[in-house]
Amino acid sequence: MTGLAAIDEKRLETFAAPFSGTLLRPGDDRYEEARRIHNGVINKHPALIARCAGAADVTSAIKFAGAHQLLTAVRGGGHSLSGQSVCDGGLTIDLSPMAGIRIDAIARTARIEPGVLLGQFDREAQAFGLATTAGTISHTGAAGLTLGGGFGRIGRKYGLACDNLTAVDLVTADGRFVKASAADNPDLFWGLRGGGGNFGVATSFEYRLHSVGPTLFGGALVYPFAGARELLRSFADFEAHAPDELYVDVLLPTTPDQQRVVLLDVCYCGPLADGERAVAPLRNLGKPLHDGLGPVPYVELQRSGDAGNPHGRGYYIKSGYLHGMPREVIDVTVDYLERSPLDTSVIAFAHLGGAISRVRPGATAYWHRAATRDVVVIGFWDEHSGAERSTQWVRGIWTRLEPLTTGFYVNTGIADDTQHRIHAAYGDNYPRLAALKKRYDPVNLFRLNANIKPA
Ligand SMILES: Cc1cc2nc3c(=O)[nH]c(=O)nc-3n(C[C@H](O)[C@H](O)[C@H](O)COP(=O)(O)OP(=O)(O)OC[C@H]3O[C@@H](n4cnc5c(N)ncnc54)[C@H](O)[C@@H]3O)c2cc1C
Repeated sequence: MTGLAAIDEKRLETFAAPFSGTLLRPGDDRYEEARRIHNGVINKHPALIARCAGAADVTSAIKFAGAHQLLTAVRGGGHSLSGQSVCDGGLTIDLSPMAGIRIDAIARTARIEPGVLLGQFDREAQAFGLATTAGTISHTGAAGLTLGGGFGRIGRKYGLACDNLTAVDLVTADGRFVKASAADNPDLFWGLRGGGGNFGVATSFEYRLHSVGPTLFGGALVYPFAGARELLRSFADFEAHAPDELYVDVLLPTTPDQQRVVLLDVCYCGPLADGERAVAPLRNLGKPLHDGLGPVPYVELQRSGDAGNPHGRGYYIKSGYLHGMPREVIDVTVDYLERSPLDTSVIAFAHLGGAISRVRPGATAYWHRAATRDVVVIGFWDEHSGAERSTQWVRGIWTRLEPLTTGFYVNTGIADDTQHRIHAAYGDNYPRLAALKKRYDPVNLFRLNANIKPA
C-alpha cells in the first residue's frame, strides 16, 4: 500500500476533474478539520481526503485507491473509537456530505445516505411518529453503526438496526455498483448485517420503520455508589424477566460534583402507563439520589447522553459481551471501582436481548445473538497528560473482566485486536464471511475495520 507521494500529479488531476465533492490535501483550508474524528486522540494525516457528493464520487475514489494501492479508510459519522475511519498517508473516503434522508410514512420505510447521523435520522422519522433501532448517542453515524449491528433503546423490541435493514447500495472494491437485499445478492446482504465495512462502501441504506412514541416513559434514575453491589445483584434478578419494551443501560460514572453513582438509563418502548408500571421495581432498588423518570419525547431521550460524550476528548475503551449480569462481573466491577480514584472513567452495561436474541446467530453476520449485555469500559481525558493513566486504568480492570466475556462487538473493536479476538467477534460466521470477502474484496482494500481476511 502506498501514499500519494508515489502518484504523479497528472493522474491525480484526471481523478479530480470530474469529482463533484471536495478533495482535500495537507495544507488545504478545511483539511485539518476534515482529518479529525470524534476521538480526539486520533491524530492521523491522510494524503488525500475525498469528501464525496454521491455514489459516482465514491466509485471513482475506490477505483483510484485500487489502481494506486492506496491504504483506504471509509468515514461515515466518524465515531470509530479506534480511529479506523481515517488513515495516515493514504486515502480517506469521507461520506459525511452525503446526508439525505427520505421517510415514506405510508410504507413505513426510510432511505438514508451514508453520512447521516442518528439524531438527524430520528428527527426525520419522529416527525411521522416512526423510528427504527439506533444507538444511544445522537451524533453517532448510522452507516458504521448499522453495518456492525446497531443496538439501542428500542432494540429489544425491534431488533438490531441491521435487522431492520431491507436494502443497501454498495460500491465494491473493484468499483462495481451492486444492490444487496433479500432478493438481490442475498449473500452479500447477509454479510452486510453485522460484517462491518469489510465488503465495500455503502452509498444508501433502506430500513423498515415502526410506530414509536413520540413520547415514551424513560429517563435517568441515579443511586449512590455506596450500595452498588447489592443494588446490582437485585437489578440482575429483575432484568432477567424484563419485557422486550424495557431497556435499561447500567452506567457507573462519576458525576461533575465528584460522586461515583449507579445510573440507570431507562426507556420503555410502549404505552406510558405500562412503562410507569414496568419501571416501578427499579424505583425500589434503594433510595435514589435523583429520579428523572417520566414521559419524555423519544428524540430527547436519544440526545440525553450527547453532552457526556463530547467530540475531541481522548477516549480508550475495551468491551465484550455478557449473558446477563453475573455475580462475578458485578463483584469484579465494584471491587475495582472501590479502589479507583474518582476521575475520568465509566463502566457501562448496554442492554441487548429481547428481539435481538430471537434471531438465529447464522441468520445474519451478527453472531452474538444470545448476549444480553455489552460491557464497555471507557477511559477519557481532556488533557494529553491524562492518557497514560486512563489507558492503564482501563487495561487494569479489563484483565479481570475479559475472561468473563464472550467475544466483542465489532463496532467497538480496537486497532490492535488480534486475529483470535476478531474470530471470536464473528463466531462461527467467520468462514462464510471470509468466503464473501474473497468474492467482494479479494485484495482486502477495505482492511481498516474488524478485518475479515479473504478466504
Ligand atoms: C459515543 C459513542 C456511542 C456509541 N453508542 C453506540 C450504541 O448505542 N449502539 C451501538 O450499536 N454502537 C454504538 N457506538 C459504536 C458505533 O456503532 C461505532 O462507533 C460505529 O462505527 C459508528 O459509525 P460511524 O459511521 O459514526 O463511524 P465511522 O468512524 O465513520 O466508521 C466506522 C467504520 O465503519 C465503516 N463504515 C462507515 N461508514 C461506512 C460505509 N458507508 N460503507 C462501508 N463501511 C462504512 C468503516 O469500516 C469505518 O472504519 C458508539 C460509539 C461512540 C463513539
